Amino acid sequence: MTAGPRRLTAPWVWPGEGVPIPDGAVLVGAGGRIAAVGPETQVPAPPGVCTERLAGALLPGLVNAHTHLELTGLDAHSAHPADFPAWIRQLIALKAARPFATVLAAARQGIRDCWAQGVTTVGDTGDSGAVIQALAELGASGIAYHEVFGPDPAQCDAALQAWVARLGELARFAGPRVRLGASPHAPYSVSGPLYAAAARHARAAGLPLAVHLAESADESALLASASGGFAEAWARRGIPLPSLPGRSPIAWLDEHGVLGNDVLCIHVVRAGDPELDLLARRGVAIAHCPRSNRAHGHGDAPLAAMLARGLRVGAGTDSVASVSPLSLAREAAAARALGGLTAGQGLHLVTLGGAAALGLQQEIGSLVPGKWGDLAAVRLPGPVDATKLAETLFTAMHEDVSLTVLAGRTVWREAEAEPGTQ
Ligand SMILES: [Zn+2]
Repeated sequence: MTAGPRRLTAPWVWPGEGVPIPDGAVLVGAGGRIAAVGPETQVPAPPGVCTERLAGALLPGLVNAHTHLELTGLDAHSAHPADFPAWIRQLIALKAARPFATVLAAARQGIRDCWAQGVTTVGDTGDSGAVIQALAELGASGIAYHEVFGPDPAQCDAALQAWVARLGELARFAGPRVRLGASPHAPYSVSGPLYAAAARHARAAGLPLAVHLAESADESALLASASGGFAEAWARRGIPLPSLPGRSPIAWLDEHGVLGNDVLCIHVVRAGDPELDLLARRGVAIAHCPRSNRAHGHGDAPLAAMLARGLRVGAGTDSVASVSPLSLAREAAAARALGGLTAGQGLHLVTLGGAAALGLQQEIGSLVPGKWGDLAAVRLPGPVDATKLAETLFTAMHEDVSLTVLAGRTVWREAEAEPGTQ
């Protein structure tokens, strides 16, 4: 699903790499990839390709590094019980009550909600398979990491077998813009043997991995001392507790051979210097979800220390069951405050940083010839000089996205778009 060729101009082009371009233009070729970016006077205008003049600025389509779009619509139920294990159980019950048709419709709505915010690619985790189907059907872009669960080692073979079979079914939805990934869910919901087997399978099949990691105090207590809310729940279900002496969730996952440069680690709140050093050595990427981390009372992730180690970090919203409504711009603002970042660094987290976190930096995240023609247009409050551009964009992307383009195709346009832009 591509459209083009297509030529867009704006008073500013913020390419995400290199310097901002005043009176810039982007030419997207017929195949949906960027053919040229630069000052309007230097970007070709092929015969028959009309130029769309946008107010404001063009920037790369935004990347949301962590979503659960199959949960779209469950925000009305997003009460936060005091303890995280109880919240997880509540969520499992809510999910189980939804028929697949409802979940698929929710996934479609979630993708459209992303487009309305200028988000063109998502890193999504879920266990229904609805999101990869919706991504494919809508001509959207993202990685759908399919989850597997099984905290009891006795479940390992059966869980793995069912998951591998389901991955095989879902592979038919993969394409140039839609990737299937693997997500052994979290250290409190997946046994060590299942983690090791799932990671081995994912790597043999060429699937990128995503894991929820080092998120809550209960997760740390489970692995460090076989105590806390998850340990109590496991004991009630007759699941053998982790062996002692314990370790951190990050060290535990590494012992099972999971961590590597094909792994997206989601949350990573509870990580000290030794754990961060280990993550950096393994070359993992991070999905940073600052508002979700606070909403659940998990605390703040060590964002500045992650960035200082050169870890690839993208911002993610998590699901509407954690933070509602979803707003990648608000995540960027929260991350910026937490990490003491500049506006440019904040924009990086939701563009090229997010792309790199998903391993897609060669394809998306900046406006460079050869990458996909994914763009967001934002209105600016008035003329802006170069020194204020990043700051102004950082604010404007909260409310003022006017157009979202995916591989050259308009996927969202605000209702009162200015005349002459079509
Ligand atoms: Zn999540």
